[in-house]
Amino acid sequence: MTQAQTQAPLIDPFARSIDYLRVSVTDRCDFRCVYCMSETMNFLPKAELLSLEELDRLSSAFISLGVKKLRITGGEPLVRKGIMTYFEAMSRHLASGALRELTLTTNGSQLAKYAQDLADCGVKRINVSLDTLDDAKFKAITRWGRFSQVMEGVEAAVTAGLSIKINAVALKGTNDSEIHDMVAWCGARGFDLTFIEVMPMGDMGEEMRLDQYWPLSDVRAELARRWTLTDIALNTGGPARYVQVAETGGRIGFITPLTHNFCESCNRVRLTCTGQLYMCLGQEDDADLRAVLRANPDNAPLYAAIRNAIARKPKGHDFDYSRQKVAGEMSRHMSHTGG
Ligand code: SAM
Ligand code: SF4
Repeated sequence: MTQAQTQAPLIDPFARSIDYLRVSVTDRCDFRCVYCMSETMNFLPKAELLSLEELDRLSSAFISLGVKKLRITGGEPLVRKGIMTYFEAMSRHLASGALRELTLTTNGSQLAKYAQDLADCGVKRINVSLDTLDDAKFKAITRWGRFSQVMEGVEAAVTAGLSIKINAVALKGTNDSEIHDMVAWCGARGFDLTFIEVMPMGDMGEEMRLDQYWPLSDVRAELARRWTLTDIALNTGGPARYVQVAETGGRIGFITPLTHNFCESCNRVRLTCTGQLYMCLGQEDDADLRAVLRANPDNAPLYAAIRNAIARKPKGHDFDYSRQKVAGEMSRHMSHTGG
């Protein structure tokens, strides 16, 4: 393969440039959030997982093809044994300028241990998933999580100089009474805050999904009763739309896969911990890059397989809860595809 072929950018059939890869490094997690996992999850045998070296080779192949932003996720990425070896490996692409941003989404449980190492690898900002500031509710949502441990992790991240964005899934009947407190807390701490609509990933039962679902149009209307919100044109390379909060100076993002479809500007694809590439979170089609990787020591077939997959990227997802039915549900869990 010539240099020019390697460097032609990844463009999908809808003329969207794909420069953002989310990499799930494990399907395992130390929490069991009610909207994400069942309490008794079956995890993949370790042999199925890409090794850290394979993760490096695959991620580096995407970077050679023009990926500029890498988000590491899971499962809980920081419970993967030896994960810092992978972050260290990816930091070479930051140093060379090939990669613009290396980041992760984490539940925060291991941040006290790893925040400084992450910063040393060139990670500048992280997403911490936190749906509530209430100890008892936190236990109810995460089943196995400890709120104080996450708070220690958040403090360690602040000390390490990492910028923090809090991700909160809007859950009717659970954290609806707390959204103002979360805006105030994030504003005071200088953290961005993003609300997410609960998506039908993994078979959790239709009734539970519909009970949990709180459209962000309603969340925004509730927030506007107390805070002065102004739309801003911030683009962090993800799907959120942002407002500025006049009273705190902070920012709030809204990720609305259900009430407002953002697929037209989608710039990302997702790699599972077993090397399957999903071109869309909400569609079943995938490409088995692990098979190509393991069959070929040379990268040319891998580049071709990635380009073939991008050429199949669909226009968008079909999630829909209108008519009081869950439509577009994906059988796989969010922890498999990577959030
Ligand atoms: N364990 C890490 C964490 O919780 O941040 C990373 C993986 S987790 C799957 C990534 C994100 O997906 C989290 O912010 C989580 O709240 C979100 N998530 C999980 N299941 C979801 C669902 N069904 N709908 C919407 N968001 C979901
Ligand atoms: Fe684990 Fe994250 Fe899923 Fe919660 S949302 S169970 S922390 S992978």
